[in-house]
Amino acid sequence: MPVAVEKACQEGAGQVMSGAAETLARCCKPSTRLVILSGSGMSAESGIPTFRDAQTGLWSRFRPEDLATPEAFARDPERVWRWYEHRRDGVRAARPHAGHRALVDLETRVARLTIVTQNVDGLHQRSGSQRVLELHGNMLRSICSVSRKPISETWLSTAEDVPPRSPHASEGLARPDVVWFGESLPEHAFHEAVGEVNNCDVCIAVGTSALVQPAASLPMIAREAGALLAEINPVPTPLSDHVDVFLREPAGRALTQLLSIMQAMPG
Ligand code: NAD
Repeated sequence: MPVAVEKACQEGAGQVMSGAAETLARCCKPSTRLVILSGSGMSAESGIPTFRDAQTGLWSRFRPEDLATPEAFARDPERVWRWYEHRRDGVRAARPHAGHRALVDLETRVARLTIVTQNVDGLHQRSGSQRVLELHGNMLRSICSVSRKPISETWLSTAEDVPPRSPHASEGLARPDVVWFGESLPEHAFHEAVGEVNNCDVCIAVGTSALVQPAASLPMIAREAGALLAEINPVPTPLSDHVDVFLREPAGRALTQLLSIMQAMPG
């Protein structure tokens, strides 16, 4: 842990500690560079299911791991497109929750806050967060399956085929602009994310099972570079044994609690 952060954490050591949230709040100073690594648990309280949650209704007999792959799309593009239509409907109906809004407020209380997200729902941006790196793309955007060029909503809204044909390549189909299992991450976003975790003072992993690589490696890179590492999750993960602070709570409650402690701290 950097000396400055260690000192910040130790300040007030004589005070009565009322928990992990206070420890973390004390480490988030106006000079702090903070990275939030968010996973699908961050969106759970907005009503968007995580991958580990059972699929519902028509889709309950399919495993996400068998739909979110290039092979599944090559085999049955209509099924994969319809699954994403179903998920997009859920995302469009969802609203950011108090935890998303707490992160927007936190931006004004630290030197730099970067959200590195594995989520493909765009909720951080919709809530107003300014600096969001999308590691796995965004399911509300579509691209050509051959050229990977963006396909506009206007084009999609007039298309009759399922999935719509691509305007960019004769063999191309529209597909969601997301990273499927077995595909590489967008190089630029991952490169930037590595830079952010290498240069942060505090890294908080929120709502991620820390199982999907290479995103799961980022918190440990932060730790090895000397940052304080914290985790917010109602259940322990493979990361939990390595963190300095563990808030064993849902994201909404933990982040609003963190914010209210910071708001109450003397300037
Ligand atoms: P995951 O499904 O592997 O793990 C989710 C984690 O969130 C679990 O550890 C769970 O305990 C925790 N969790 C559940 N409810 C929570 C809450 N209220 N507050 C805090 N934590 C909570 O998700 P992952 O680690 O993000 O990785 C799986 C992949 O799933 C990612 O690639 C991601 O792109 C994709 N995915 C994204 C979305 C989305 O965009 N909302 C939804 C489903 C899956």
